[in-house]
Amino acid sequence: MGPTRDVLKHPAKPESGYRPPTVLPEDRHNRELVSNVHPPGWINPEPAPRYNLVVIGAGTAGLVAAAGSAGLGARVALVERHLLGGDCLNYGCVPSKCVIRSSRALGDLKEASQLGFRVPAGVEVDFPAVMERMRRLRARISHNDSVERFRGLGVDVFLGEARFSGPGEAEVGGKTLRFKRAVIATGARAAQPDVPGLAEAGFLTNETVFSLTERPRRLAIVGGGPIGSELSQAFRRLGSEVILFHNASHILNREDVDAAEIVQRAFLREGIRLVFNARIRRVERAAEGKVIHFEHPGGEDRATVVEILACAGRAPNVERLDLEAAGVAYDPRMGVGVDDHLRTSNPRIFAAGDICMDHKFTHAADAAARIVIQNALFHGRKRLSSLVMPWCTYTDPEIAHVGTTERDAEARGVPVTTFTRPFSELDRAIADGEEEGLVKIHVKKGTDRILGATLVARHAGEMINEITLAMVSGVGLGTLGGVIHSYPTQAEAIKQLGDAYNRTRLTPFVQKLFRGWLAWTR
Ligand SMILES: Cc1cc2nc3c(=O)[nH]c(=O)nc-3n(C[C@H](O)[C@H](O)[C@H](O)COP(=O)(O)OP(=O)(O)OC[C@H]3O[C@@H](n4cnc5c(N)ncnc54)[C@H](O)[C@@H]3O)c2cc1C
Repeated sequence: MGPTRDVLKHPAKPESGYRPPTVLPEDRHNRELVSNVHPPGWINPEPAPRYNLVVIGAGTAGLVAAAGSAGLGARVALVERHLLGGDCLNYGCVPSKCVIRSSRALGDLKEASQLGFRVPAGVEVDFPAVMERMRRLRARISHNDSVERFRGLGVDVFLGEARFSGPGEAEVGGKTLRFKRAVIATGARAAQPDVPGLAEAGFLTNETVFSLTERPRRLAIVGGGPIGSELSQAFRRLGSEVILFHNASHILNREDVDAAEIVQRAFLREGIRLVFNARIRRVERAAEGKVIHFEHPGGEDRATVVEILACAGRAPNVERLDLEAAGVAYDPRMGVGVDDHLRTSNPRIFAAGDICMDHKFTHAADAAARIVIQNALFHGRKRLSSLVMPWCTYTDPEIAHVGTTERDAEARGVPVTTFTRPFSELDRAIADGEEEGLVKIHVKKGTDRILGATLVARHAGEMINEITLAMVSGVGLGTLGGVIHSYPTQAEAIKQLGDAYNRTRLTPFVQKLFRGWLAWTR
């Protein structure tokens, strides 16, 4: 296995033989990161007699819950066993988007001849420099999530692994934290694929892949969801040979097929080998590398690679929390059970983020933590189901979505009308050489109420926000048609769909009335 994550089992007490976590490679950037988000030598404070809120886990959900509650005057304890910032800062969004940025530049260079200039063949990728850039930027961003910052906000920060010792108390490093309310925000980790020989051969996960300093010449990625797809394209562009195994018939199978296929075509053009409906039988280590034996509709086959990256789902971090002691119901595969108010089976304990939610995104964890603050501390009745949740997969082109899909709407018996604008008809996309994209907006049939949208575009993640805003504020598609958009922009496609909707209101009867009026006033 590659470099491993150093999980703390004990609180940060220098005298107890405790070892601060390391993030590999141990260069100055990673030392800066660790000194911010798990400072060596940190001594936990003496607990207050009772906290308004004890927050377990300092990823996005935990940090937002802690900062928000403390800002409102609550007495808050925040417990983290590894690195503040959780997956997003350390092993997720931040490092992946830094690496994707470099890989995009390489993608552009490869397309350069179509933009009218020649780039010498064989542009050299400096993989160590790409990864160093990522580590430098991650360290810089880590100041936002630092122990020091949270202490400054008035939060009692405890470094160590928390477990419940009763329905109203948790323990960390031999100290008892009594609470009126608690929130479980312990997140999730990469699920280990159940493949014989894989553990023995060794594999990477999102917790170790960003520690690489050498490009794997041949890389197998297991799982074609958002994380697997993003990293497949990034590593391919950085020069690895990539084979992507997916257990369905197209990548990103949460998305509409036509949208996912646009991304899939880009993958094939770039030389990613895609194996659909794949079943990995076993992995073995051989002199030439790791040999993956697999089945797919074409028969049995094998592939030899240098590294295997597991991106096949997420497993909730429920172990060693002693949830039973607190009376919190959970499922080892699905995580902590919550109601629509994010309350667990113990009415004093809430949960937020990847530990309990289907939408495993940073912005979802953030939004859930805000609900918890209101519901836990102020008897609020905020509901998770009331959130309008966009998401984006940062492939090139990006694929972003909000609200319902045609498929979901049909399944729920909601009649929809879909307006689609392919980018081959959009001036700015043509000028940019980015014609493989689309905007699709679904409205409730007979109205302009937006129920959902899917976008495939280079910056779909930016464009989706306009549609989310419209949905949240009840602005209909017809109104978007009247919003002036700068020309030429790709977001203009949204306005054009608004115009398309407004044209549907020009019924033969209305047209006849107009014609009559115009004839009369001629
Ligand atoms: C490669 C990758 C890329 C991603 N990219 C994006 C993206 O671009 N956009 C996006 O929105 N989302 C992205 N995500 C998802 C996003 O990172 C997660 O949804 C988000 O981090 C969830 O936050 P969280 O607070 O629920 O959990 P986490 O971030 O997992 O935090 C949980 C914390 O709890 C701690 N903990 C666990 N058990 C205990 C315990 N017993 N005691 C004390 N502490 C404990 C853990 O150490 C961890 O720090 C990505 C994820 C990955 C893996």
